[in-house]
Amino acid sequence: MTGRREADADVVVVGLGAWGAAALWQLARRGLSAIGVERYGLANTSGSSYGESRMFRTACLEHPGLVPLAQRSRALWRQLETETGAHLLDPTGAMLIGPPDGRIAGGALRAAREHDLDVRVLDRDALHRRCPAHQGLAAGDVAVVEPQGGLTLPERTIEAAVGAARASGARVLTDTLVTAVEHAGDGVAVHTAAGRVLHAAQAVLTPGPWLGRLLPGLPLEVVRMPTTWFTPDAPHERFALNRLPVFMREIDGGDVLWGHGTLPGRTELKLGLEDGGKHFRVVDPETPDRSVAPADWEVLADHLRWAVPGVGRAPSRALAGIYARTPDGQFVIGRPGRDPRVVVAGGCSSHGFKHSLGIGEVVADLVQGKEPAVPLGFTDPDRF
Ligand SMILES: Cc1cc2nc3c(=O)[nH]c(=O)nc-3n(C[C@H](O)[C@H](O)[C@H](O)COP(=O)(O)OP(=O)(O)OC[C@H]3O[C@@H](n4cnc5c(N)ncnc54)[C@H](O)[C@@H]3O)c2cc1C
Repeated sequence: MTGRREADADVVVVGLGAWGAAALWQLARRGLSAIGVERYGLANTSGSSYGESRMFRTACLEHPGLVPLAQRSRALWRQLETETGAHLLDPTGAMLIGPPDGRIAGGALRAAREHDLDVRVLDRDALHRRCPAHQGLAAGDVAVVEPQGGLTLPERTIEAAVGAARASGARVLTDTLVTAVEHAGDGVAVHTAAGRVLHAAQAVLTPGPWLGRLLPGLPLEVVRMPTTWFTPDAPHERFALNRLPVFMREIDGGDVLWGHGTLPGRTELKLGLEDGGKHFRVVDPETPDRSVAPADWEVLADHLRWAVPGVGRAPSRALAGIYARTPDGQFVIGRPGRDPRVVVAGGCSSHGFKHSLGIGEVVADLVQGKEPAVPLGFTDPDRF
């Protein structure tokens, strides 16, 4: 592809979280020689793709243009499962709860209407019967239920995608920090902290919250967002995943509760808060403060006391992760400055896991100079 005799690969992928792993898989299976470089180990807890589970849904309230990307991702999840034998996506149903004209349920309804998605709507009483753990619902609240939504498994998905990429010939360097990506000749030079330089025709930058480090100038903020698990005061079937499927629930003041019931064989529920920029700190991704203190979960615990009572007063487990957000909440995917040698995919804005595999495919299309499988003009890095 490069015609450069000294090139180490056609493409170097920098960062093997969910998006980079997906890109590496797609590039390798198309026959490109690809090297994936990851500063930590695979499936680490330092970036955004950690914590055992992520919500999957195609009712994309964040942008109607994301619906086809989620649909494509679902097909690719099935393909990755078939290729690797791993179980990665559980269609246990997903619920978007709140006022029908609100951001969460209303946004899901808009996406469902526009794309003719298979969703059902439960009124408050029906929701309460189906999911008794949800209490304190407002009179007009509804649940938009996507039966084919559910849970994806972040660590296992990364391991499966990287494993499938390796099986197609990709090379992987872990514990290798990339310090700079520069133009060199008619390709790129990828510099590592250990002094190694990898030459390739193109670089794909998928370093998650660290994108601003490698590509300054994008308006990205890195947000520290704790993930918390709670153990119920007493075991009860209302907290099991089949009675409390993965959900987002808009409550008064614009806060959004999210989480899901206990997985088979487990005792903890995963519950968290999306705060619309109110409670969580903007941090430097190199020094985000990984310790978790009561200040991280007190607002959430206050909400849970009336909205999902009986799940314990304090988390039994917590992790402080980080993610990058953009001013418009949309991703950054494309060629910055129309650079023919660099493709970026970042700015996940905390809703990007469900799109990982579709994004990997779009990135591979861009690297090959093809029209992306799913049009994503609204994620152009040059839009700011
Ligand atoms: C608490 C929380 C809950 C979420 N819930 C959901 C959800 O339910 N559904 C959903 O769809 N999305 C959800 N998201 C968002 C989703 O997790 C992210 O969109 C997704 O994980 C982003 O993956 P990524 O590959 O872009 O970033 P990351 O997973 O952060 O991967 C980036 C990788 O690059 C590596 N790296 C960085 N810099 C370098 C460098 N210089 N050299 C080499 N390697 C480097 C990092 O070590 C890391 O492994 C949530 C996010 C958070 C934080």
